[in-house]
Amino acid sequence: MRRLLAAALCAALITGLSACGQEEGTSAEFYAMDTNMSVTAYDGNAQNAVSAVRDELYSLDLRLSRTRIDSAISRLNTGVGLPAEEADISQLITSAIEYSDATAGAFDITVAPLVSAWGFTTDHYQIPKQKELDRLLPHVGSSHILFGGDGTITLDGGTKIDLGGIAKGYASDLCEQILSESGVTSAMASLGGNIYVRGSKPDGSAWRVGVQDPQKPSGFAGVLSLTDAYAVTSGGYQRYFEENGKRYHHILNPATGYPAESGLTSVTVVAPANGDEHGDGPGHGTMCDAFSTALFVMGEEKAVEFWRSGVYDFDLVMVTEDGRVLVTDGLADKFQQEDGSGYAYETVSGNPA
Ligand code: ADP
Ligand code: MG
Repeated sequence: MRRLLAAALCAALITGLSACGQEEGTSAEFYAMDTNMSVTAYDGNAQNAVSAVRDELYSLDLRLSRTRIDSAISRLNTGVGLPAEEADISQLITSAIEYSDATAGAFDITVAPLVSAWGFTTDHYQIPKQKELDRLLPHVGSSHILFGGDGTITLDGGTKIDLGGIAKGYASDLCEQILSESGVTSAMASLGGNIYVRGSKPDGSAWRVGVQDPQKPSGFAGVLSLTDAYAVTSGGYQRYFEENGKRYHHILNPATGYPAESGLTSVTVVAPANGDEHGDGPGHGTMCDAFSTALFVMGEEKAVEFWRSGVYDFDLVMVTEDGRVLVTDGLADKFQQEDGSGYAYETVSGNPA
């Protein structure tokens, strides 16, 4: 018997938005990119900012959608190619390829045909036959994404792209940009588990961002205190189906075509906000989204090694199948353990022990 299970949001924001005596913010709550989103701004031109964010993310959703036949991504996937005018999407694809290279292909937007084969695009879940995966795997890999001299992008035959592992992160970068342009200094955005916090809460304290307990998503494995930061969680518990008592989730190992089984149940990547000099285009929100997916695929050892390499500026909270919560030392004074969670907490230092 097959059971279809949809999961709740991932990293949750514990904000007390209208807590007593606290300035109430201006919020927009909406549904885009297959998830519930909310943005709240507390100062500056808050009203304009939150509606501009909502409009921008609706439009981005339409352009990046794989299921809408006329979207920019559908045109690319059906062989029409992406014209140079879609410069922002082209930049996003360029970032995706960079993160793919950095993670030895653990993050790879060309997993699209595999995602479809498992039914994650349509919610008609199924376990694909090995023969089917063997046919699709040769088309997976960013070398199949071709950049023309005139700025156009095309794909090799059989290759398709899926920006589901990076789109909400990019959306959070756009939030930062729009809030900044609107003079907002205190705000937060929760885009289906991709959290962006701007400044501090109106009362001057840090935002509290819960890291969900993958075993019991109504509870927390810990809470982060953050200001001017992104926090993005990927976990196998967020979207999956069960067949013959086994769970199959939506984060795929691009090397095998199967859901990643790396011993991790969730990865939360935290990075500083881009800051006002950043300008537009993909930034740390996009990076956190790509790396949360990639590091979930890579598993504890490779993820720690990648973090220690120091090439990118981020920190990690990883929850393991065997009941541990690993927190990299950059978060030591920002992470609060959850009493009674049953997890064993470990700090990961920059140098191997
Ligand atoms: P979520 O979208 O649930 O927040 P992720 O950011 O981890 O979680 O993205 C998972 C989505 O990304 C999948 O639904 C699929 O569309 C796509 N995807 C799955 N595996 C990979 C992968 N290894 N690299 C890039 N994208 C992936
Ligand atoms: Mg991701």
